[in-house]
Amino acid sequence: VRVLRLILGDQLNPEHSWFREADPGVVYVLMEVRSETDYVLHHAQKILAIFAAMRDFARHLREAGHRVRYVTLDDPSNRQSIPDNLTALARHYTAARVEWQSPDEWRLDEALHAWAGGQPFETAEADSEHFLTSRSEMAELFEGRKQWLMEHFYRRMRRRHGLLMTARGEPEGGKWNFDHDNRKPWPGTPPEPADARPMHDHRALWDMLQRCGVKSMGEAQAECVRWPVNRIEALACLDAFIENALPHFGDFEDAMSSTGQRLFHSLLSFALNVKMLHPLEVVRRAEDAWRGGHAPLSAAEGFIRQIVGWREYVRGIYWAHMPGYDDRNALGHHAPLPRWFWTGDTGMRCLQMAIGQSLRTAHAHHIQRLMVIGNFALLAGLDPRAVHHWYLGVYVDAFEWVELPNTLGMSQWADGGIIATKPYVSSGAYIKRMSDYCKGCRYEHKQRMGETACPYNALYWDFFDRNEDLLSSNMRLGMAYRQLRKMPQAEREALRAQAGEVRARLDEL
Ligand code: FAD
Repeated sequence: VRVLRLILGDQLNPEHSWFREADPGVVYVLMEVRSETDYVLHHAQKILAIFAAMRDFARHLREAGHRVRYVTLDDPSNRQSIPDNLTALARHYTAARVEWQSPDEWRLDEALHAWAGGQPFETAEADSEHFLTSRSEMAELFEGRKQWLMEHFYRRMRRRHGLLMTARGEPEGGKWNFDHDNRKPWPGTPPEPADARPMHDHRALWDMLQRCGVKSMGEAQAECVRWPVNRIEALACLDAFIENALPHFGDFEDAMSSTGQRLFHSLLSFALNVKMLHPLEVVRRAEDAWRGGHAPLSAAEGFIRQIVGWREYVRGIYWAHMPGYDDRNALGHHAPLPRWFWTGDTGMRCLQMAIGQSLRTAHAHHIQRLMVIGNFALLAGLDPRAVHHWYLGVYVDAFEWVELPNTLGMSQWADGGIIATKPYVSSGAYIKRMSDYCKGCRYEHKQRMGETACPYNALYWDFFDRNEDLLSSNMRLGMAYRQLRKMPQAEREALRAQAGEVRARLDEL
């Protein structure tokens, strides 16, 4: 064997140039290892989905004539770490060269470079051929600036790829951003389109994980795991999304409903992040749907912005600020997560819904992650690193390059405002406006004081109060500070005391 090529669990792209021709001198290596299952406590479905997809990818490569070595978690020769397995396999195959595709996580990038340094054979890194920007493009674009505006980056991407652009180089519809049209709550029970995702019976895989003693959180539901295992299934999910959900995506992007969990979101993040789908093919489909009269411009634009804008942007933030980004804690928050983060068992109905759904399905949509769970964590002063680890574990689409900037930066403001121009906080009023969660809640969304007051309310005012020195000069928070300063001193004191009580009994809320 001349060459060993490592394929990581989030590099399942059959269109990669590596696979253009079958070469008997090349062995592709995939491995299930404890260092990956155990670096954080993962949702059971996340481990199942990734391993099942890796196994299917190995099958696909073999069928296409490639040589593949697949190391299962229970393989007696498995050394349970990627570098250790690579060393053993390189020796076993007497490989002259070992290659890998650039990992997306800093941790693995470091580990592979450190490993490669001491080897007697050649080593080489290949592009993963997935992203639209290099790791460093964002840092170069914003060099020397305090604030890295997503919108600026997004317009550059639209121009570069000619997405939703007129022949004269103007944005279609005369605007770059239709977000103002995209903020509608859902009245009543939403007619959510049928879930087009496949169902897989992963019981055998689950049994193996149990035998090996892999710990996990959430419900395994191993008999019907709904995440695609390959590109063909992922493409079918994409088709169904474009057909049935994209037309409503914009209008209800921020809405939440206790009867419809996903509303009109795509559920494509897993397939994208493990590289079954390419971001450009996904956004081109959305653009075509608009050009063909199937979806409004605001929906197509909103969806495209998430992928060529936010997704690439947070990756740029990650590489520009790692290592060390995960240590940031600009607001000095240290409270541990309440225990209902692992059960969903809280009287706050919005959190019961959003966390319960996350534990049941390994997914929640953006506003549930940002304005229900993240909002509460920030207001309550939970430790941002613990919050980061929870998000990294619970969501099927969570890989550090995308999860960390979203959680620690956008949601917890622990980076001191690199991503978010202001902390994303709200009182119970926002949740009431955008969802039906407050109906039947133990707490009263309008009330600020007393045992039945919605805990978000006092925490919200207390957040501004205790961070006055740091935040009151922020222009975007002017309104909140004007209101706070108009408040009688006694009311401020009372809210402070109420917030203190809430924080003292987080587990019981
Ligand atoms: P849709 O709403 O249909 O959006 C389409 C696609 O746009 C998504 O599939 C995703 O690829 C991309 N996208 C949308 N928003 C973002 C964003 N803010 N950052 C990056 N990509 C985005 N997304 C992840 O992929 N992995 C994570 O670990 C993750 N953690 C998050 C943590 C927090 C605190 C927050 C607020 C957001 C997080 N997101 C994460 C972003 C977003 O919530 C998910 O991408 C989205 O909910 C996935 O569901 P969907 O595929 O139905 O998305």
